Order: sequence, then structure tokens, then C-alpha cells
Amino acid sequence: MPDSLNQTWDLDVIFPGGSRSQAFTAFLAGLAGDIGEFARCLDETAVPQTEGEAAALVPVVERMQAITLKLREADSFTACLAAEHQADKEAVRLGGRVRSLYADFASQLTRFDELLTRLGPAVWSALLAAPELQPIAYPLQERRALAKEKLPPEQEALANALAVDGYHGWGELYNTAVSRIRIPFEEEGRISELSAGQAANKLLSPERGVRERLFRQWEEAWADQADFCADALNRLAGFRLQLYKHRGWDAVLKEPLEINRMSGATLEAMWGAVEKHKDIFAEYLQRKAKLLGMDRLRWADVEAPLGRASKEYSYEEGARLIVDQFRRFSPKMAAMALRSRWVEAEDRAGKRPGGFCTSFPLSGATRIFMTYAGSASNVSTLAHELGHAYHQHVMNDLPAMAQEYAMNVAETASTLAEMIVSDAAVEQAGNEQERLVLLEDKIQRSVAFYMNIHARFLFETSFYEERKSGLVSVERLNELMVDAQKRAFRGALGGYHPYFWASKLHFYITEVPFYNFPYTFGYLFSSGIYAAARAAGAAFEDRYIALLRDTGSMPVEQLARKHLGADLTRMEFWEEAMKPSLEDVRLFLKLTEGR
Ligand SMILES: [Zn+2]
Repeated sequence: MPDSLNQTWDLDVIFPGGSRSQAFTAFLAGLAGDIGEFARCLDETAVPQTEGEAAALVPVVERMQAITLKLREADSFTACLAAEHQADKEAVRLGGRVRSLYADFASQLTRFDELLTRLGPAVWSALLAAPELQPIAYPLQERRALAKEKLPPEQEALANALAVDGYHGWGELYNTAVSRIRIPFEEEGRISELSAGQAANKLLSPERGVRERLFRQWEEAWADQADFCADALNRLAGFRLQLYKHRGWDAVLKEPLEINRMSGATLEAMWGAVEKHKDIFAEYLQRKAKLLGMDRLRWADVEAPLGRASKEYSYEEGARLIVDQFRRFSPKMAAMALRSRWVEAEDRAGKRPGGFCTSFPLSGATRIFMTYAGSASNVSTLAHELGHAYHQHVMNDLPAMAQEYAMNVAETASTLAEMIVSDAAVEQAGNEQERLVLLEDKIQRSVAFYMNIHARFLFETSFYEERKSGLVSVERLNELMVDAQKRAFRGALGGYHPYFWASKLHFYITEVPFYNFPYTFGYLFSSGIYAAARAAGAAFEDRYIALLRDTGSMPVEQLARKHLGADLTRMEFWEEAMKPSLEDVRLFLKLTEGR
């Protein structure tokens, strides 16, 4: 067996000794020392007053970037240790240690940002003109602009301190409410109590009866906790609105758009295109209902499987399918995939569920974590994570600040890699039934981005509007949610999910407001790139690399203009990006005609 097909990763080459690694302990001690020195360096740095003095800040910026890379290296190492062996308490402890180093560094960064805001315009321009800082001019400008728009540093510091037990506290209270959820479930004559996570998985059951029964109980369970959830949601939204008000920000979308480096015009154009092409997806939902023997689908049926894809892929087969398809798109990407001992895919007990890709910027290495059991969806996951790995690989030599990209472009390379492979899987399907199942799986993904995520966005938008004039009751939250779902699904469903605002964790993530539209953006942006790639053929490979390298260095509008010649603020780009998914639905409707 070639070493590239070895299904366990090698972490010892990074730090030998696992969670007992002495080298890693020494590394963390060094990192703590570096943060201390950075703090002293900020104490001692006077605000430059002349252009000539500006250069004195270059080493401060470089020190800050060096710490960022080390923190990422440490964070990746502890994440990998904790994932490969869930019971490893020492790994958990190390993870906590890294998080507290991040927090120490964050306090120093606030001081660093303040220093930037105190520079006069001429001194600032002189600093940005330093050759070492040229590649990070955009993220530096962004930091300074954002710091200037916030409250004075001591007030921001107070708000942050109060947020720990206030704002973030509400998010944690929600998690407590979720952990109390128990849903009775009868299987083979025995009744068991499911946690929210277990029940969510069972809702995907191929048996309609099971879904129906469970969904009713699911709604009841959330109704029971709804008062607590509504409190949490109202209070954390209230905190956000209050802080925005004090900062003088009137639009709720200002912060989420800035985090994603995109404009409101782009967001509007994207949803505009989605709205324009919803009818055919409503038609798809209608057809799926018919295939399942129903009049109309209800909320829990949207993601129900149509049948089973019988095909299983050995790891070697899956890996070959991926590398072969990558090669057709980009030989450089194919050559990077499945580097020896970078992937941990072995199906064994004790591993964390799910998959991720993480990189070690100092070692120039990447590690992928997943459990490969041979399903088509495992092959997709592997392709997805390999896409992330490639994105990181092409950015490895950039300065730390230029490597940091936002959520909406973070999934570009991964989604694209997945699209390449899922397209090939549909094409190569052994029979009609298998083809239909794989095709439907692709369509389900677009329905999630165009309809489910859209519903979340519509709900959050109208909720914030009402929250401005006071607390929003449980009954009203339900109404707002059902209205949003009806609009997003174009009324195609026979039953909705009023308590979705309670059951969906994403509404309670305090670190990132509006944790929804970046998903749809990412999906459509990759689809637009994929379309451009197919049109350009082999010539696209280097353009693709250039685009990925720029993901941390400019707003998305500029990224698209520079590398795709596209204008994201116009609907044309988004409509073009939707085309492949529309073709999928047309094909599905044709294949299932008269069935
Ligand atoms: Zn991903």
C-alpha cells in the first residue's frame, strides 16, 4: 500500500510525544513569553509623530504576526490531539491553555489597535508604504478603521468585560436549555430518551412515520423550553442593539457585512437572484412529495432521503476518484491532495465525530480529520477537507495577516472541491436509481442554501426590527419564523417549524452575528468560480491559485472583479452561479417524470 493511502496521520513530526509532548510544553512557554514581550513592547512604543518615525512600528506589527502564527500552530496541535482521542484529558487541558493564551493576546491586540488609531494620516500612509507591510495593507487598514468606529478603548474594554457574563452568558444559558432537552423515542418496543443532537439525526429517518412522530415531539420539546430560549434570544439581541446604538451604528447588518468584507449591495443582489429562481425549487419539492407518496412535504421531509445509494467506496477507491477528478480541474491541486500521513481517516472507536481541516503554519503542514466508513458522503467530506487543505497550502508563504479570510470565502475551495467530485459521482453512477439518489443529494444542498438559510436570514432580519421596540414574545417569534419559512420555501410545504428559532443553535452564536448568509454566499461564490473554471479550461489553474491567495487581502467585490471580471453587486453573477443547480433540478424533474 502506498504511504499516501495510510489512513492515520502523523502528529509526531510536528511535536513528538502527543499530549505529553515536552517539546510542545516548551513551545507554549515560549509563546507565553512572546505575548509578555509584545505587551512590554506596546508599553514602550511611543505614538510616532512624524513620517520618519513611522518605521518604528514595523517590528511591532511583525512581532504581532509571529505570535499569530505560533498560536495557530498550537491551536491546531491541541485540536488534532483532542479529536483523535476524545478521552484524552491532557489534550483538553492543553486546549484550555491555548485558549487562555489567545485571550491574553486579544487584550494586547486591543491596545495595538488603539495605537493604530492614534496615528495621523501622514504617519499612517508612511507606515503602510513600508515594503514589509505592503502585502498586509488591507487587513491593517481594516483593523484601524474598525477600531476608529468603535467606542473609546476603555469603554470597549468595559463592554467586553461585561459581555462575558452578559452577552455571551445568554448564549451559554441557551446551551444549558438545549442540554436539558429529552425526546422520548420508541424503537422496537423500547422507549429511549434522545438528546437534541440524537433526535436531529433521527429526523433524517427514511421512514415517514418515524419522522412525523418524532417531529411532533421535537416541536413539543422546544415549546417546553421556549420561554428560556426566547429570553436568551431577546437579551443577546438587546445587548447587540444597545452596543451598536452607543457606537452610533444604525444598521443591524453593518457588523456582519463588515466581518465578511462585503457590501449590502452584494447581499441584496445575491438574495435577489435566489428569489428570482425559487419557483423551480418549489416544483422540485412538489415532485419529491409525490415520490414519497405525499400530497405536500412537511418541514421534516425536506431532507429525507429518497432511497439508498448502494455504492460503497473503499478508501483507496474514494481517494482515487477524488485525485482523478481534481486532476481534470487542476493538476497542481491533484498533486497536493493526499500527502503522506496528513489525513486521519481510520474508522475506529474513540474519535470525535465530524470532520475538519487545520493547518500548521510554522511547519507548512496541514492535517485532515474525519472517519471514513465508505459512503458517498464520506467521499464528499474527504474532498471538502482536501479543498480546505489546498486553500491553506497556496497561502502558506503569505504574512499571517494576509492569510486570514472571512467565513463567506472560507468555504470557497472546499465547496468547489466537493462540487467537482459530486458531479463526477453523478456522471459515473452505476444505474438510474443510484444516479437519482446522488443527484437529489446535490439538489438538497442547494435547497438548504436557497431556502432554509434564506428563512433564517429573513427571520433574523424581521426579529431585529421588532426587537428594537421591545421584547418579542414566544408567539410572535413563532409567527415571524413561519412567515420567513413560507416566503423562503415559496409556500411549497404543507407544514412548517415554528420553533426553529429555538431549535437552531446558529441564532445563539454570540461570536458571529447573522450566522447564515455567509453560507449561501460561499456556496454560490464557489459555484461561480466553478463555472468560470469550466469555461476557461486548463488556463484557469493559475488564476484559481491567485484568487485563493487574495482571499485574505481584499473585500469580496474586489476579489471577484480582479480574478473573475465579475461584479458581485449585480444579479448576473449570482444567476450565472445558480445555473448548475437549476440544471440539476431540471434533470431531476425529467428523470422522475411520470413516476
Ligand atoms: Zn468546510
